[in-house]
Amino acid sequence: MLERIFLHQKQFALKLRGESLDVRIEALEALEKSIELHKQDIIDALKKDFQKPEAETLLSEIYPVLKEITYAKKNLSRWAKGRRVPTPLTLFGSKSYIVPEARGVCLLIAPWNYPFQLAFSPLVSAIASGNCAIMKPSEQTRHTSSIIKKITTEAFHPDHVFVAEGGPETTQELLSFAFDHIFFTGSTRVGKIVMTAAAKNLASVTLELGGKSPTIVDATANLAEAAEKIAWAKFINAGQTCVAPDYLFVHESVQHNFKKHLIAALEKFYGKSAEQRKQSPDFARMISFNHSQRLKDLIDEAVSKNAKVFFGGESQPEEHYCGPTLIEGVDPHSLIMQEEIFGPILPVMTFKEISEVIHFINERPKPLALYCYTHSQMNMEKIEKETSSGGLVYNDSVIHFANPHLPFGGVNHSGMGSYHGKHGFLEFSHQKAVLKQSFLGKLLRVMYPPYTEFKMTAL
Ligand code: NAD
Repeated sequence: MLERIFLHQKQFALKLRGESLDVRIEALEALEKSIELHKQDIIDALKKDFQKPEAETLLSEIYPVLKEITYAKKNLSRWAKGRRVPTPLTLFGSKSYIVPEARGVCLLIAPWNYPFQLAFSPLVSAIASGNCAIMKPSEQTRHTSSIIKKITTEAFHPDHVFVAEGGPETTQELLSFAFDHIFFTGSTRVGKIVMTAAAKNLASVTLELGGKSPTIVDATANLAEAAEKIAWAKFINAGQTCVAPDYLFVHESVQHNFKKHLIAALEKFYGKSAEQRKQSPDFARMISFNHSQRLKDLIDEAVSKNAKVFFGGESQPEEHYCGPTLIEGVDPHSLIMQEEIFGPILPVMTFKEISEVIHFINERPKPLALYCYTHSQMNMEKIEKETSSGGLVYNDSVIHFANPHLPFGGVNHSGMGSYHGKHGFLEFSHQKAVLKQSFLGKLLRVMYPPYTEFKMTAL
């Protein structure tokens, strides 16, 4: 059945090429309308899947998609226009253009952590660029997956957009088809599987992967402000955020003060006692028992290697709960410093010289994001020039995700390609080189064979 849908989409994608941009705008409007209609259902689904607070669903799942649609509708005619480029003297008389054309049929594979937004944001770009798409939402968030299916079925003909529900076996089946482009959001491990499968058909890929995003707080930072921003960015969605600060490096001269501010921020957000934090309606649950158990094991292993939990540490895997946790003295060889944490545990380490931190980052895979809280121009320059990361944010965390003018994506282990706004439109388009020759092109023919002595002297 999936193969039949795929083959129908292949046909429909050819038809779409000849259509005006109005067809894409109408499709975006249909999606917008269906999302608006089902706002409450989306909120309810995410609550059922992992007790995601309503405010966080609105802020991080629904609004970003609606904003992406509005932005694409407003700018589409400008993005889709061919762009004239200069022609060198040797091709005198001709005209050259770059024309963005739809890639064709795209496969969009989504993760569970922002299951709604990360399924639909890439779809907005895919549609704006004139593609067909099969979406594969995460099997771990089944309520959200079924509302994604409902919205899509209401808004599109299956020859244009189709949702294939299921787990890794479904992805494996889909990966055997010759898609024109594969857009994958998920772990680095599965990203490698996807890229290997794409290579068989030479499909282009966008990989939006994970990793450990370091966060630096130097001695010049505004500590109270930095602590609050980091606490928000780390613990929203209970730490299950690809761009969440994974671990902290705090200058040793300000560490005591900073830790006090960090604890104060967590108590203000979620409650002073462990029980209050557990009952907080503003703190989500872990996605599964296995994921909660993994986090508990990370804490236990770090503690067995002399790390110290100085805030939180409560963990009840059977209830999918892991409380906001701060831990210090971690051994860089412990698992918590090797794996992406992807949960509400924040290791706090200290440093003396910024060069130590730069060395630490450069010894590990390139992160998806790097955050630096500082007022030192020199430190900013050093970090920007001497490290590599998908994104870099000064004096805040995570918010670069919300600027549609910035490309969002990783580098090497944290991903390849980018999207959001025009960057998404370009990612789902092939930049076709078009050259239009005029009658003056005849002049070039003088250089065709036979290469006489006379012609050779002219070269
Ligand atoms: P995952 O890689 O386990 O799963 C992602 C998707 O791949 C799911 O739809 C799943 O069904 C499918 N899948 C899983 N195993 C597969 C296999 N063996 N073969 C084929 N398909 C398979 O990721 P996840 O656990 O859903 O999400 C968490 C990860 O995603 C984290 O690493 C996080 O950092 C990353 N992430 C990255 C971004 C980003 O924008 N860069 C955003 C969100 C999450």
